[in-house]
Amino acid sequence: MTTLLLVSDDPAWPVALERHLPDADIRIYPDIGEPGAIDYALVWAPEPGLLARLPNLKVIFSLAAGVDHILRDPNLPRSIPIVRMSDPYQCNMLAEYACLAVLYHHRFLDRTLALQARAEWEEQPVLYTPDITVGVLGLGAIGQAIAARLAGFGFGINGWSRTARQIAGIDCHHGPEQLSEMLPQCHYVICALPQTPETTGLIDSAFLARMPRGGYVINVGRGAHLVEKDLLAALEAGHIAGAFLDVFAQEPLPEGHAFWHHPKIVVTPHMAGELLPRTAVRSIAQGIRDHRAGQPLAHVYDSARGY
Ligand code: NDP
Repeated sequence: MTTLLLVSDDPAWPVALERHLPDADIRIYPDIGEPGAIDYALVWAPEPGLLARLPNLKVIFSLAAGVDHILRDPNLPRSIPIVRMSDPYQCNMLAEYACLAVLYHHRFLDRTLALQARAEWEEQPVLYTPDITVGVLGLGAIGQAIAARLAGFGFGINGWSRTARQIAGIDCHHGPEQLSEMLPQCHYVICALPQTPETTGLIDSAFLARMPRGGYVINVGRGAHLVEKDLLAALEAGHIAGAFLDVFAQEPLPEGHAFWHHPKIVVTPHMAGELLPRTAVRSIAQGIRDHRAGQPLAHVYDSARGY
């Protein structure tokens, strides 16, 4: 018998798990029963110390693409593999969000909505989409989904990753030096990176200064990627035209934060890529089946590279 511990109050998870793993004993936190029986834990931000109390835990499945919330547990049993969520439907949602954000500015909706608020009719210029380049930071499952959708509209696509990659339709760059070369060509930058020591604070004043004047910043990675005060300064100076942000240094975004009422910033509440249990359950069920069959696990967090 396989025993799972689910730490989530979303009622859709147990339904989806029972459907895809009908033979499993599913325990829902805090009703964990005998801790020694639990083989697999499905968690997002578990209570610190919880995972260390499960002596026979074999794999931790993250209920998110990032694992940063799990790593915050000071008592995390470091020898147990953590599997990151990789759900094609979630990637699809993030790609929708990225298109929405780019097109919002590209088709002057930001300006047009401000004009509508004043009941002003003013036609906007027309841009030739292939003249516009989008830089996608992170060419993982999410970055590639974003790049593919935007390429479909005709935008030029630059991509950036840690290691060298070759992906059809993307002008691929890697490493800090090539980022610096790539940024002056990017009218839009979309951050789809995991949070690691190397990527924390990446989008700072030097980064923004490398973007062309009028550049636009979209962040769906993590709030820690962006130095918020540097963005405010670049907007104030008119070098950056605007930003569309889903993630923030502090979430929920605190009351009174300068972003809330900034005319050039769109704030969304970390909703770019929600996880739907009915689709995400497939990768967890497959992971458990693979592990039970002695097959290697996919999407395992690697502590050496930080994602
Ligand atoms: P992947 O692990 O599949 O891809 C990560 C990408 O980032 C890889 O291309 C990797 O390079 C690149 N990368 C990592 N470190 C560096 C670095 N130092 N320099 C350059 N590139 C780097 O992750 P996913 O695509 O699945 O997810 C990415 C992130 O998206 C998540 O970690 C999470 O933070 C965020 N996210 C946000 C959501 C939201 O709702 N806003 C929802 C889901 C995820 P390489 O190819 O060389 O390995």
